[in-house]
Amino acid sequence: MTAGSSKSYDLVVIGTGMGGGTLAAALGDTGLRILLLERGDFLPCEEENWRPDAVFLERRYRTREFWLDEDGRPFVPALHPWVGGNTKVYGAALVRMRREDFHPREHIDGVTPGWPIAYEDLEPHYCLAEHLYLVHGESGTDPTEPPRSRPYPYPPVPHEPYVAELAERLRAAGARPSPLPLGVDVRPHGRCIRCRTCDGFPCRVLAKADADVRGVRPALGFPTVELMTRAFARRLLTDASGRRIRAVEVETGGKVREIAAEEFVVAGGAVHTAALLLRSANDRHPRGLANGADVVGRHLMAHHHTLLMAIDRERPNPTTFQKTLAVFDFYHGTPDVPFPAGSLQLIGKRTAETVRLAFPELTAEEAHELAAHSVDWWLLTEDLPDPENRVTLTSDGAIQVRWRPANRRAHEALRRAAEELLSSCGYREFLVQPIGLDGIAHYCGTVRFGDDPATSALDPVCRAWEVENLWVVDGSVFPTSGAVNPALTIAALALRTAEELRRRFGIQRSIHETIERLVNGIERD
Ligand SMILES: Cc1cc2nc3c(=O)[nH]c(=O)nc-3n(C[C@H](O)[C@H](O)[C@H](O)COP(=O)(O)OP(=O)(O)OC[C@H]3O[C@@H](n4cnc5c(N)ncnc54)[C@H](O)[C@@H]3O)c2cc1C
Repeated sequence: MTAGSSKSYDLVVIGTGMGGGTLAAALGDTGLRILLLERGDFLPCEEENWRPDAVFLERRYRTREFWLDEDGRPFVPALHPWVGGNTKVYGAALVRMRREDFHPREHIDGVTPGWPIAYEDLEPHYCLAEHLYLVHGESGTDPTEPPRSRPYPYPPVPHEPYVAELAERLRAAGARPSPLPLGVDVRPHGRCIRCRTCDGFPCRVLAKADADVRGVRPALGFPTVELMTRAFARRLLTDASGRRIRAVEVETGGKVREIAAEEFVVAGGAVHTAALLLRSANDRHPRGLANGADVVGRHLMAHHHTLLMAIDRERPNPTTFQKTLAVFDFYHGTPDVPFPAGSLQLIGKRTAETVRLAFPELTAEEAHELAAHSVDWWLLTEDLPDPENRVTLTSDGAIQVRWRPANRRAHEALRRAAEELLSSCGYREFLVQPIGLDGIAHYCGTVRFGDDPATSALDPVCRAWEVENLWVVDGSVFPTSGAVNPALTIAALALRTAEELRRRFGIQRSIHETIERLVNGIERD
């Protein structure tokens, strides 16, 4: 049964992850009546937050839903449906895309399209996002760093001695390592205790700058912002003309209700946003909303990832907080492949327990030996947009994902270059942890924005070409994925769209003032 709702809102935001949470922060003080809909709840602060077995074995914080792969086999995706979305467990590496990523690029396995905006159009929003998400970094060391109009808000997270020495060795080998920009509160009197259970874990002391802590909670401090948790947006309903959304159909507490608003922002993450638009098909939009160009669900991208443990049995690694260093030397090419190859970053230190979870065939002693003598890298290469890689719905409404990574040769070149570089720093053995479909954390691309309605779903400010009050602010809007972690770019794009919405509602105050007030408010609390 569907019940109508008596209340109407100026804005409904579906999803409270990096996109939705950031948008809420940017509009909180405007006086607009805003409803945030989130299918999950607040993630509990509890002992299990920092227990590797609970997080990685029991997958305590993962979704319980199943998707189907292209052959119809079910799998549980790496999604975390909580207030804050996937940022509740993210590693908080908050990296800008490179200037070149916004233009068409030739890759070893194909040519990517450009974005409808240039890096310079997003640069001010990157600055705002870095301010909101407490980014600690250093310019002048990363050779591919794009130009910035403001310095990083905070100095880089200091390396522990082993990592500092590794940086020296890398420099001696001819590389130009740089501090990894991070959104964690390591300021004097900040909450971060620099533990081993950051990357991939929820933060029990709320020191990680996630979309819940830095976006949703501060936005809820304003009286006109409401949050409905355990509320699943089933469909968007248009008016008779098909040009406007009139309501969202929401399932909550075992009931289904319709909620009306002036504007609707979808921020469910790249797969769920596409699924919602496809589920919302009607007579006026038979292929799904915003899908006249038949792009919704297509061009699913996810980056190529490799987790590489570099082992030096002579040198123990006692580091606790390891994720502080990056190498961008191969971003535009490697010594043997003159095409974009990607980036290397340190990740959270693997322990004997997490090594054993990844490689169950190892004995406890072997896992201990490897964890104690390794340094752990994340290799990341751009995936290319392929229209056949896509999200679809089965006849009974299940989500099916077809993803065959493109640009593999570039990723192989990156791995070769990484191993060569690390060999010259004393690492003789390498162990690679494979990552399957159920480990993908960087979905994007399924509702691309562009400057041509024939090839994109959204216009350059991320509003649907075909539905005038429908906006999207999550990873789905990316026309290409670059080879850096996506969250900062999602936040910057959300802030840019928030600015457009403020104009639409006639809000005079600048978004800079809003973010400044919000950040000051968080500091006081
Ligand atoms: C382990 C891990 C580590 C990561 N580390 C990093 C990192 O270091 N740096 C980085 O940049 N990125 C990282 N990422 C990726 C990053 O978290 C995501 O790219 C980012 O959160 C995506 O933002 P989003 O807004 O697109 O979606 P999400 O953050 O996933 O948010 C979507 C939200 O919408 C809700 N939702 C979906 N559908 C509906 C619906 N129909 N109704 C109501 N609610 C709905 C979901 O529950 C969720 O809360 C990591 C991810 C993981 C899993």
